[in-house]
Amino acid sequence: MIIKPKVRGFICITAHPEGCAAHVQEQIDFVRSQAPLRNGPRKVLVIGASTGYGLAARIAAAFGGKAATVGVFFERPSTNGRCASAGWYNSAAFEKKARREGLYVKSINGDAFSNPVKERVIRVLKNELGPLDLVIYSLAAPRRVHSETGLLHKSVLKPIGESFSGPTVDTDRGIIKDIHLPPASKREIGDTVAVMGGEDWEMWMNQLGEAGLLGEGCRSVAFSYIGPKQTWPIYKRGTIGRAKHDLAKAAQRIDASLKTTGGGAFISVNKAVVTQASAANPNLPHYISILYKIMKNKGLHEGCIEQLYRLYATQMYNDSGTSLDETGQVRLDDWEMKPEVQNAVAMLWKQVTNENFQDITDYAGYKAEFLKLFGFGIPGVDYGAPCDPEVDF
Ligand code: NAD
Repeated sequence: MIIKPKVRGFICITAHPEGCAAHVQEQIDFVRSQAPLRNGPRKVLVIGASTGYGLAARIAAAFGGKAATVGVFFERPSTNGRCASAGWYNSAAFEKKARREGLYVKSINGDAFSNPVKERVIRVLKNELGPLDLVIYSLAAPRRVHSETGLLHKSVLKPIGESFSGPTVDTDRGIIKDIHLPPASKREIGDTVAVMGGEDWEMWMNQLGEAGLLGEGCRSVAFSYIGPKQTWPIYKRGTIGRAKHDLAKAAQRIDASLKTTGGGAFISVNKAVVTQASAANPNLPHYISILYKIMKNKGLHEGCIEQLYRLYATQMYNDSGTSLDETGQVRLDDWEMKPEVQNAVAMLWKQVTNENFQDITDYAGYKAEFLKLFGFGIPGVDYGAPCDPEVDF
């Protein structure tokens, strides 16, 4: 069949298998154009490995350091002639390309919050790979069924304590509109912390540790975001920020535990990039359109793969060690937060109107990146040719 993008709000309900494979290849090519990782990780588990930062973490470890990778994700295979999700196609393409290089790969599709998925991963590691030296926790999930209580928690992106009114991009129509969000209830805050906070990361690390699967010197990393003041009502000071605070607390406990065997854990505060998760945040498409304009003009633009390669090459598998900020976090958002970038963002933010939005920001770049997440708009892919939506691993 011929697959075209069908965008519904902040999601595209179709995905192109060959386009997704080409998107994975672009990321592999980027990593190959950089120096190989010296003393990179050998055995890596990536939780949330099929899209965005987790996929980049997997690609950079495998193709930058020849690491064996186990990837966990929650993706939809093709059924009844319908497209699979982009993360399914990405992971199938990654597996094929990594195997061709002689690399060990294993993918586990299922709910990472559940015990059966944790047990499956532990079985695979025990039978096939042995103890890990890196665990990347990169879940961005809308919901979690708690494995102990059975309760369903749904995360929300809302301010805390006061309501928020501000600009958002209507990506269907390419216009700016105002949104109004009421403050989150106590329950919504707790639910968001349950989904996006640190409890599940700790559960993973505890279960892996008890199974003897965290090797000497094993490290673990989860990702966070801080961003500039314009995004704080919904991010840093909102429900997701509360969850990230909880994640940071978990990082400290995991760090203390891994330190006993010469390893450690930290949070990497990453740059704002276009992913399925960030597209769902009412603030970020507007901010990213402005940010990309500025960072591209200054030659500082990075996507997921550039960020993850930089994390490994300059903070983890380098000679000078890891530099942490005063709160103990790695700041991969350092270029985004440079004063000259943020001053220019603030100036452009003030100038944006509905009429000039598309002209003076990089909204075109935002849209192109968004479609690319689903395998569309990639040079060299013949979108007019029929393709089979069923792709196996
Ligand atoms: P993403 O939507 O691209 O990826 C989410 C991943 O989680 C996918 O692999 C998906 O399959 C997996 N997943 C979701 N629910 C799951 C479940 N129940 N079980 C198993 N896997 C599941 O998101 P992303 O933007 O790459 O976000 C990853 C992390 O990076 C998040 O912690 C996010 O807050 C953080 N981060 C994102 C940005 C940004 O701008 N996108 C910036 C800084 C930090």
